[in-house]
Amino acid sequence: MAKKAMKKMEMKVYKERLLLLRARLRGDVSAMTEHTLRDKNGELSTMPLHMADVGSDNFEQEFTLSLLQSEGDTLSMIESALERIEEGTYGSCDECSNSIPKTRLNAIPYTPFCVKCAEKLQS
Ligand SMILES: [Zn+2]
Repeated sequence: MAKKAMKKMEMKVYKERLLLLRARLRGDVSAMTEHTLRDKNGELSTMPLHMADVGSDNFEQEFTLSLLQSEGDTLSMIESALERIEEGTYGSCDECSNSIPKTRLNAIPYTPFCVKCAEKLQS
């Protein structure tokens, strides 16, 4: 457990930010999915005839899908951050239980780790 739990009032600010971020991401993700699917099942008459065009289309689709992948990860991180707010553990590091600096939470409100642990886990 964290030694210094964040105050409820402070958490509320981050909760609102997370909810906003989640709504925006969800909107983006569904819009992008729709676009990708429509392209994939595009009408035959609009299908490109040259191999070069087909190649670039595939590339664009793969690029969009990889973007979706990372946005999905962000979404799940936002979800678990919201859970931590409900539990009252938000703002403390998942790894070492020290409190995460506000400057970091302001930059990445859904991060579960302090800077030290994030760097340690990345390497
Ligand atoms: Zn830590």
